Amino acid sequence: MSYVSTSPSSTQPFLLIDLINLRNVAVDVPSKSAWVQAGAVLGEVYHGIASASGTLAFPAGICPTVGVGGHVSGGGYGMLIRKHGIAADNVLDAQLVDARGRVLDRAAMGEDVFWAIRGGGGNTYGIVVSWKINLVTVPARLTAFTAVRTSEENGLYVGETETLLGVMKQSFPGLELTGQDCREMSWIQSILYFAGYPNNATYDELLDSRSSAPVQFDKVKAKSDYVEAPLPVKVLQGIWKRLYELESGPSFLQIIPHGGMMSRISDSSIPYPHRAGNVYKIQYYAVWSREGKEVEKRYLDWIRRLYEFTTPYVSKNPRGAYVNSRDLDLGRNNLGKITSYRQARIWGEKYYKHNFERLARAKAAIDPSNFFRNEQSVPPFTG
Ligand SMILES: Cc1cc2nc3c(=O)[nH]c(=O)nc-3n(C[C@H](O)[C@H](O)[C@H](O)COP(=O)(O)OP(=O)(O)OC[C@H]3O[C@@H](n4cnc5c(N)ncnc54)[C@H](O)[C@@H]3O)c2cc1C
Repeated sequence: MSYVSTSPSSTQPFLLIDLINLRNVAVDVPSKSAWVQAGAVLGEVYHGIASASGTLAFPAGICPTVGVGGHVSGGGYGMLIRKHGIAADNVLDAQLVDARGRVLDRAAMGEDVFWAIRGGGGNTYGIVVSWKINLVTVPARLTAFTAVRTSEENGLYVGETETLLGVMKQSFPGLELTGQDCREMSWIQSILYFAGYPNNATYDELLDSRSSAPVQFDKVKAKSDYVEAPLPVKVLQGIWKRLYELESGPSFLQIIPHGGMMSRISDSSIPYPHRAGNVYKIQYYAVWSREGKEVEKRYLDWIRRLYEFTTPYVSKNPRGAYVNSRDLDLGRNNLGKITSYRQARIWGEKYYKHNFERLARAKAAIDPSNFFRNEQSVPPFTG
């Protein structure tokens, strides 16, 4: 897969560190925690947890091939978001190699840096070698449902079908959910279900990133938004119309509910600030496969027009964005050694809101020379 807008070529030398051999997952059932090396992908983490217990889980992303190194560094939402928050909310400790080559655990790096690495963006404070994660308790049986109506709607209920049907009848009667739309399954089966594996897939397939993992994109440009009041029907219709503008291709939108646990966690508990007051988050994806500048331009223009169209209806001042859907349209630095703090606020406050300054101060404490940097990393600030 290639992300069109995340890593433009740079004339500056850079170092690529391959963590592929650091992928151990050590689960400790009694303490409901695990040490996970940063080179592991989510599928390996989920597999390790499910092998140790049928009632423990980790609230992280939907796609099993995403790496925990970058994913947890930027937040990490998945199907358990409303019940247990995001992956970065569930980090207990970490091992970080800093720019001086020191290996630091939580106590050694200090609480400000430990706070920053849980959602303040990858490749900024150092290299995370491993995360100690909190495992959440789930029932042995959960209910996944897919209700195909005029569009397709997916959901996960952390409980039995019968209870879910009662809740849906009361809260979403218009959806007319029936038992036939629902399937009870274990948490690990729900991981396979939402990642789109065939019904007969076993969770061992999560260990093979070349297996039938269906969420495979070719070329993608992503954008994100946070929504504080549900989009009016006419706006949804406008989005729908724009989805038909592209003659082909699997471009799509995801609506990720917030609320629940997300509203109970403070907006400065970790750098991810999009908490109470957000009803959902939108992920926009332009997806295409044909080569060529002209095709690329058509899809980039399309997603930018869509983003412009939704402007009046989403969060403002700043318009929130999700750092794990890095969007260089929001601005970028020139990858120079020190980026100005003022310049970086343009995108930094969209990703982190009021937490941006604290992140920049943590950055100054751990990496004052800005050794770790990318187009939108947080620069050091001591002013
Ligand atoms: C198919 C697909 C599905 C996705 N689904 C979800 C989803 O359900 N929920 C969600 O929240 N996000 C999702 N994402 C977004 C995903 O969380 C981000 O792309 C994330 O940055 C991926 O991390 P990575 O380590 O795999 O990628 P990389 O490109 O390797 O890393 C991303 C950034 O983090 C840095 N980084 C990586 N490892 C480390 C480390 N060990 N220490 C310090 N910095 C590091 C990298 O330098 C880079 O800047 C999805 C992405 C894809 C491609």
